[in-house]
Amino acid sequence: MLKSGFSKGLFSALIGLLFVVSPAFAKGRYSHYVLGDLSAATPAPVSGGLLLMGGGDRNHESMRWFFGKAGRGHIVILRASLGPEIGKEFYNELGGITSAETFVFKDRAAAADPKILASLKRADGIFIAGGDQSRYVRYWKGTEVEDILNAHVAAGKPLAGTSAGLAMLGEQLYSAAVGSIKSDEALADPFGAENTIEGDFLNLALLKGIVTDTHFKERNRLGRLFAFLAKAQAGRAADLPPMLGLGVDESAALAVEPDGTGRIYATAPDGGAWLVDGTALRGLSPTGPLEAPRIRVVGIGAGSVVHLPSGEVENPVFTRAYAAHGGKISEVPLWSLAIHGGAGVMDRNALSPEKDAAYRAGLNAALQAGGEVLGKGGTALDAVAAAVRVLEDNPLFNAGRGAVFTAEGRNELDSSIMDGRTLKAGAVAGVTRTRHPVDLARAVMEHTPHVMLAGPGADRFSVEQGLEQVDPSWFRTDQRWKQYEAWKARQQAAVDPTHLFGTVGAVALDAAGNLAAATSTGGMVGKRWGRVGDSPIIGAGTYARNGQCAVSATGSGEYFIRESAARQVCDRVAWRGESLSEAAKATIAAIGAIGGEGGLIAMGADGRPAFGLNDLGMYRGRLAAGGAPETAIFADEALMD
Ligand code: ASP
Repeated sequence: MLKSGFSKGLFSALIGLLFVVSPAFAKGRYSHYVLGDLSAATPAPVSGGLLLMGGGDRNHESMRWFFGKAGRGHIVILRASLGPEIGKEFYNELGGITSAETFVFKDRAAAADPKILASLKRADGIFIAGGDQSRYVRYWKGTEVEDILNAHVAAGKPLAGTSAGLAMLGEQLYSAAVGSIKSDEALADPFGAENTIEGDFLNLALLKGIVTDTHFKERNRLGRLFAFLAKAQAGRAADLPPMLGLGVDESAALAVEPDGTGRIYATAPDGGAWLVDGTALRGLSPTGPLEAPRIRVVGIGAGSVVHLPSGEVENPVFTRAYAAHGGKISEVPLWSLAIHGGAGVMDRNALSPEKDAAYRAGLNAALQAGGEVLGKGGTALDAVAAAVRVLEDNPLFNAGRGAVFTAEGRNELDSSIMDGRTLKAGAVAGVTRTRHPVDLARAVMEHTPHVMLAGPGADRFSVEQGLEQVDPSWFRTDQRWKQYEAWKARQQAAVDPTHLFGTVGAVALDAAGNLAAATSTGGMVGKRWGRVGDSPIIGAGTYARNGQCAVSATGSGEYFIRESAARQVCDRVAWRGESLSEAAKATIAAIGAIGGEGGLIAMGADGRPAFGLNDLGMYRGRLAAGGAPETAIFADEALMD
């Protein structure tokens, strides 16, 4: 251990100086054990590879893989505690190698010992044992041992490390210089002095951009690996890709070929490695506990193949997302979807059980359509479009088929969609012939330089795009026509007790962490003069921004426009630090305060949906990876958050 108050830089400089001025000090202390014949020829060709072992009992098959890479020749075991045990295991128990030579370092000066250096240079394979990695860092960093280890791997010879011997192999490493940190300690203060992250040690191409950890699931180390990555990436150049965390279970060894393909050897059926994507662990606040809404973790099992250093995993055992908040981590849904079918003055007594069931079936069908996309790894954008398309075809909802009528007895449809990943958006207003207005909104987003097209021009664009066209009568339903006639008789918006609005919308988070939102509507009964509501207005009826939220609104559109409702929710989260649920409710309260009514659905970056409502009800539903679909209609039903 370093004495406190004695800087490491100074320490190394002083040690370096001592070597130069006084060769007597270079005589390091170490123990040396040899089994086998050091002068025998290496029986087979040597080739490269890394064996990354989690620190438990060694899987013999993996050791044979390693010995094979070393041409069954001379294995040098490096360690900084204990004695010849591993050499005996290799030479006597496993056998099949020419020699097993162990050096147990007692101090840093040993790293300049010519005998050790000569043996290391000659080694066919080098195995770094477990123990205390702070010793390895202290004894070897900046010495010729470091250079020889780098050169050994670069020359295409195999290197293995277990436990502490693996912990120090990454581009950045946790050195445990002040003792071994536990997950809860690291999460509580990820940038603190106890989280001893260092770089400038080994430089192994296959572990570039990687921080390793060991004894992984056995010691519950996922939280600390998140914290390692957060600190390791502090100050990392923005043009460099995010770093990866690689945690190996005690019951596993990851054997990596020189081309970077790695496979697991396990001593227990569930032994494997964990790959943490550091994307969400960059640029975090240097104070307070680790806060990250969604960290992606992929499980590498016996049937998986990982590619290093890119971190791609074929056939993963799992793909999960975790949130880190308030010093704790929790698993959050990998993908998540929420939908609405409009808010309004809904009277329980006026909604027959059949109608209730029909609405819920409609919501479920939309959830299923969107969930299918997300479950297959599809994008949030595709999922919201898929869910909205189903609702547009359902005559119960005021979008597509079943849209309300204008004052002239026509159906004029509005829709919008936004991709939170790119902040691209598309919208259409007052379209009359496109079966799925949401698809037209998307075409505007993808195939024009514009955000919104309106009226006849939008209809023409739809034809040009080859979107499905229908006769305007397709949108008409008897129920809406009656509603229109009632409105005409009264010359005011008909108040349908079961269903005033009926706009549809969806918000989603996909497995890649992208958010998207879409909304579609026929607008308000009796609208005239080309009236356009909030639904196609980006920032009012629809908004999505990765890392913040996705929103789709429904209600008296004029008020949602004036309050920039959808964007307001996201800004409250981003700028005021409100929870998504607080932001949804506060936005609806702001709309209520100026006389508006309705509701909205929102999706957070962690995949937790939130609902805000100041009406008696809102048709709504949610579905997340691994869960069952849930629907609700009335305000007092669960599913508000
Ligand atoms: N917000 C829509 C509009 O004002 C109506 C609705 O949500 O039902 O056009």
